[in-house]
Amino acid sequence: MMTLMPGWFPLGDCELLVVSDGVLRLDAGSVFGVTPRVMWEPLVGPLDEEHRLAVGLNCLLVRSQGKLILVETAVGNKTTRVPAGAGVAQAGTLLEDMARHGIQPEDVDIVINTHLHFDHCGGNTTYRDDKLALTFPRAQYFLQKGEWEEANHPNERTRASYLPENLEPLADSSHLELVEGEAEVIKGVRILPAPGHTVAHAIVEVASAGQTALYIGDLAQHPLMLERLAWISSFDVLPLVALETKKRILGRAITENALLVSPHCPPGLGRLRLVDGKRKWETL
Ligand SMILES: [Zn+2]
Repeated sequence: MMTLMPGWFPLGDCELLVVSDGVLRLDAGSVFGVTPRVMWEPLVGPLDEEHRLAVGLNCLLVRSQGKLILVETAVGNKTTRVPAGAGVAQAGTLLEDMARHGIQPEDVDIVINTHLHFDHCGGNTTYRDDKLALTFPRAQYFLQKGEWEEANHPNERTRASYLPENLEPLADSSHLELVEGEAEVIKGVRILPAPGHTVAHAIVEVASAGQTALYIGDLAQHPLMLERLAWISSFDVLPLVALETKKRILGRAITENALLVSPHCPPGLGRLRLVDGKRKWETL
């Protein structure tokens, strides 16, 4: 019988723990894309004075087969530059939250990034003695090759979200593991392409003993976007592809009753169910 540490969630032979990097504030209009404000505004909570929506920065720890995997590193603690409109004053708490659960950066064996926007990989690196270094010094960092190329060669539209200081220590390093398409990281943990938010955006599947958890990356920044397929963020570079990806992955999540882990939808862990034919986000 497995003994669970406090706060950890069992999934077959694995254990999952959602850890938080704090709060990110995003321009609310950008979050809901072409959906008219009169449709979403009555349904979301209060916005701040800069018309921003507070969203979560949930990362996922997976303990499996003696390995500790961290999915996503969120904003991190080098928050000197962020894209216009974003607020990170309450971000950067990931390492403290991990420490509260007795986990140090050296304990992490593997880091996975769904994509390389500043709010998903900012904690990959940190300043140590005034020099940029890997935050998780022993870890292998897994991500899609296409995303790495995009992040290193951004265009005028994508440049603001890709910060070189989140990438540089990984370049030409033995810690970088670039994968293409579906890839198994360890048995039961796979990176799956989920294009739309970015061309090479991916999700992470954890499967054990007939149970599945999906870390859904930026398939949604708000639970309403999980419940309404056509509510797609204007951050997505391929919105119609994002729609097909949402249909496919959220359809699968409902069929398999998969546990969903969302970086931005509070409180991180939930399930999508069909209630009277409508998708409903139910938190755990
Ligand atoms: Zn994001």
